[in-house]
Amino acid sequence: MSAAIIDGKAVAEQRRQLIKQQVQQRLDQGLRAPGLAVVLVGENPASQVYVRNKQKACEDVGFYSELHRLSADTSQQDLLELIEQLNQREEIDGILVQLPLPGHMDEDQITEAILPTKDVDGFHPYNIGRLALRQALLRPCTPKGIMTLLEQAGIELEGKDAVIIGQSNIVGRPMALELLAARCTITVCHSRTKDLAAKVRSADIVVAAVGRANFVQGDWIKPGAVVIDVGINRLDDGKLCGDVDYAAVSQTAGWITPVPGGVGPMTIATLLENTLQAAELHQA
Ligand code: NAP
Repeated sequence: MSAAIIDGKAVAEQRRQLIKQQVQQRLDQGLRAPGLAVVLVGENPASQVYVRNKQKACEDVGFYSELHRLSADTSQQDLLELIEQLNQREEIDGILVQLPLPGHMDEDQITEAILPTKDVDGFHPYNIGRLALRQALLRPCTPKGIMTLLEQAGIELEGKDAVIIGQSNIVGRPMALELLAARCTITVCHSRTKDLAAKVRSADIVVAAVGRANFVQGDWIKPGAVVIDVGINRLDDGKLCGDVDYAAVSQTAGWITPVPGGVGPMTIATLLENTLQAAELHQA
């Protein structure tokens, strides 16, 4: 058996085209383009690449975007003041502070300083709380993008057993809330989980968000299972790979997302969707 590939790049491109059309419709109606402010503190090389990709994606769909580059020794207070200015500005619909922040900063306080209606990353406790209560407003981009991929692939979720490996605030936990809201039965695993392989073997849907190359093994997978690989790991030869041993797992799984070209492009497309949604919220 060989798994069907869930092509995140293609689905993301469709979404971006749709957003581009919606931006044009806004302009035709005399409304302004959605605006995103991205804040980058310090020189983290991976963050610089992510921020560049997000800005380019904004330009491609016709959003207004601006980048605030702050030095690594910026104080917490100065960053809070910048966020407050961005909260007040009408032409800014979304504020994204690229994580991780330098060690002297309190990420939780920064996340909470962003107005919940401008929190296009969906990390504010207000937005996580609404997701938990099944009253979602702005949803975290990576899990929401995965839900879009599952929907586009026509995968039925109701009643399925889902195992999520990883319990981070940005991927694992909101992923569990998304799949629970879709009426899956959820198991969330982490570094203290006992007999992980047996738990994964029971799953109809596996989401791997661990941050370890080729961690999920071929013989952990139930035949026909859906395998979503969130991991982005750089190998010594410079190539990117996921958390799933793709060659082995794709022999047993029914569906699989590749890395690159799976979840990653959807995360950015979903950020654009959230920014458009925020613009609509601000206009209402
Ligand atoms: P994270 O905060 O480091 O969380 C990793 C999780 O994996 C933790 O919950 C950890 O458990 C768990 N874990 C570690 N070792 C384990 C083991 N041996 N067995 C079971 N669980 C284990 O990472 P993250 O931010 O969620 O990101 C995960 C991966 O996804 C990374 O590769 C990241 O680059 C990637 N990512 C990709 C996208 C995208 O758009 N494609 C977006 C975000 C992240 P504990 O909690 O017990 O420590």
